[in-house]
Amino acid sequence: MIHGLKAREFDRLSREALGDDIQRGAIGKATDLIRGRRGAAVARLPEWEELRERARAVKAHTLARLDHYLLQFVERAEAAGVVVHWASDATDATEIITGLVAEAGERPIVKAKSMVTEEIGLNHALEARGLRPVETDLGEWIQQLAGEPPSHIIVPAIHKTQAQIARLFAEQLGSAEDASAEELTAIARRILRQEFADAAIGISGVNFAVAETGSFLLLENEGNIRLTTSLPRLHLAVMGIEKLVPRLSDLEVFLRLLPRSGTGQHLTSYQSIFTGPAPGRGAAPRRGRGGGPGGAPPPARRHRRRALVGDELRRSSLQCIRCGACLNVCPVYRQIGGHAYGWVYPGPIGAVLTPQLAGIHEAKALPLASSLGGACEEGCPVKIALPEVLRDLGREAGEAQGEAPGGEGFGCGRWAWFMRTPRRYRWALRLARLGFPLGKRLGPFRRWAEQRELPRPAARSFRDQWKERSR
Ligand code: SF4
Repeated sequence: MIHGLKAREFDRLSREALGDDIQRGAIGKATDLIRGRRGAAVARLPEWEELRERARAVKAHTLARLDHYLLQFVERAEAAGVVVHWASDATDATEIITGLVAEAGERPIVKAKSMVTEEIGLNHALEARGLRPVETDLGEWIQQLAGEPPSHIIVPAIHKTQAQIARLFAEQLGSAEDASAEELTAIARRILRQEFADAAIGISGVNFAVAETGSFLLLENEGNIRLTTSLPRLHLAVMGIEKLVPRLSDLEVFLRLLPRSGTGQHLTSYQSIFTGPAPGRGAAPRRGRGGGPGGAPPPARRHRRRALVGDELRRSSLQCIRCGACLNVCPVYRQIGGHAYGWVYPGPIGAVLTPQLAGIHEAKALPLASSLGGACEEGCPVKIALPEVLRDLGREAGEAQGEAPGGEGFGCGRWAWFMRTPRRYRWALRLARLGFPLGKRLGPFRRWAEQRELPRPAARSFRDQWKERSR
């Protein structure tokens, strides 16, 4: 059971999102702004394509030798004083973390933005124990106040206007309904400062982990990650196994690609590398049934990410560095926003990851919700072949839903039959001209046509015109 998974409801959720003009306006404006900044930042870097290729190669190499680099990372991290806990699925992970929190006395918790903790439903698991983890990234905090999951990987409240945020603060915190952006930020800063001062446990994600040194890197712009990881006595860093790179020097390429792709910045404001705990900060004891003896990884049986590693095409999805660039250029995401995807990962990378991590039966509609225009692949800093993976998953989704008449596969099958000989093709054109107005309203294509603007077939085909002119 995956917490918060609603990807089966994609049709309903996307229809509702399409009816929300304010949300569509907010997302369009924000993604236009980020795309503009990204374009300008990339244009100033002549070696951009070379960097993308290097990043792709580093990630592909690491994923192909993942067991080796994982063990190396654990060995070096433990030598530096870090305690590594293995988890084979979300339940394992949340049990380990809630166990560590219990051992630390269930004290106040602050959290830095982390997609993997969203993925495992960590806040929900902590709240079920009566704990109150406080998100400290501004956008993530706004979403927590609203009781909503993030709707973008790096801009969690991208779908909200300033007026909506001011109303939310007024309802939840008693501030003025017409508070300015500066006033809203000052309110958040005041409240979060106190949360940092009170916190005993800090939970973060990990942007990159380095096998050769056992270090991990965190990137941020607001300074909240530094406070989350340095003020509380216990720091828990949660990472997926795909976050590894082999060498410290590999980080250079990602430090240049990620901020440019994500926000159009040359560098992220704060870059923190952790190699072992700070002097005087002890490590928590090892726990967790997922961990094998001697720091070995848990059995691959239930581990979705490890299942992906075996397939070369699908493995490429694990190259993702969570920059959000594919969302900003996706014509589907830009219209429906993130919540319609029904889980934590929206946009093209969500349409690729959710069916693989949650199972195709849980998310059959997602791989089909793509124009396959390729803008996502072009914008991806690590060159993931997103349209190709989407097509592959789309085939699997088609098989899973048994190709009902009126479905995408049914239509394509009929089209392929007509295209097989010139004679059939000519008949298809004639039928299309005659049946177009009726076919849009009746028959097996009605559902398909309802959601699309179809070009009207020409009154006379090119072939007919060519024949006439050649006489
Ligand atoms: S798939 Fe590529 S563009 Fe999309 S979030 Fe991941 S790294 Fe960024």
